[in-house]
Amino acid sequence: MTALDPSKYNPDRSFPAKIKRRLTLWRVAKPMPTTPRKGIISFTFDDFPKSAAQHGAETMDMIGASATYYTCTGMAGHTNVMGDIFTEDDIAPLIKAGHEIGTHTQTHLDCARVDAETIRSEISTNASNLEAIIGKAPEPHFAWPYGETHFSGKSSIGDMVSTARGILPGINRKGSDLMQIRSFELTPEGWTTDRASKAIEQAARSGGWVTIFTHDVRKDPSAYGTTPAALQRLAKQARDSGADVLNISAAYEKITGEAVA
Ligand SMILES: [Zn+2]
Repeated sequence: MTALDPSKYNPDRSFPAKIKRRLTLWRVAKPMPTTPRKGIISFTFDDFPKSAAQHGAETMDMIGASATYYTCTGMAGHTNVMGDIFTEDDIAPLIKAGHEIGTHTQTHLDCARVDAETIRSEISTNASNLEAIIGKAPEPHFAWPYGETHFSGKSSIGDMVSTARGILPGINRKGSDLMQIRSFELTPEGWTTDRASKAIEQAARSGGWVTIFTHDVRKDPSAYGTTPAALQRLAKQARDSGADVLNISAAYEKITGEAVA
């Protein structure tokens, strides 16, 4: 199925689907080789709305950090509940400012409901379209639309992408799945910001990799976005925590590099 407007999509809430989702989470396709002793924090934006390109990037620039934008080319030029979605013109300035572009499928489909071949084809089309815009291949890092996947999907894309980010909260440590990276969502609800803040604090104290994701970043965000003020608060906290604030590629290199050493 195709659902380019996330607000119009509801995951399968049937009992078998719930069981499957839980099993998928615990069946690890690519275990994280080590727990980084020094905490790592990564900020990511999904889809992505123009406001994330503007206020998200401004916030990252403020702390001298790079963010990852998981880009769904099928959404380019659309307007939905998250506001105006990116257009091609938004990509080059982000890269110039040091941010990175990852992949997020072409049609923002629920990957739990399609086979591995379809997932591969979606990633490939999305990457080709991004390559045409960027002039080189996007970063080999992917985010599951709605966080939805299955074990067969997770285990069949390792030759296409180095990591895949999910949407379930938690700090990533040794053994966590690099093909379903845990991530803290930011919504307008204050507790989501507080939860991410606590995770940053914890990673700064005892290591691990915290990834954070949201969509639009504006004063009056959608249910899937956050405010510039909340994002700035977390960004400053991450910078001052003593943890490394890195985009997904840099975090991945650091984590896998540490494993080799
Ligand atoms: Zn998305």
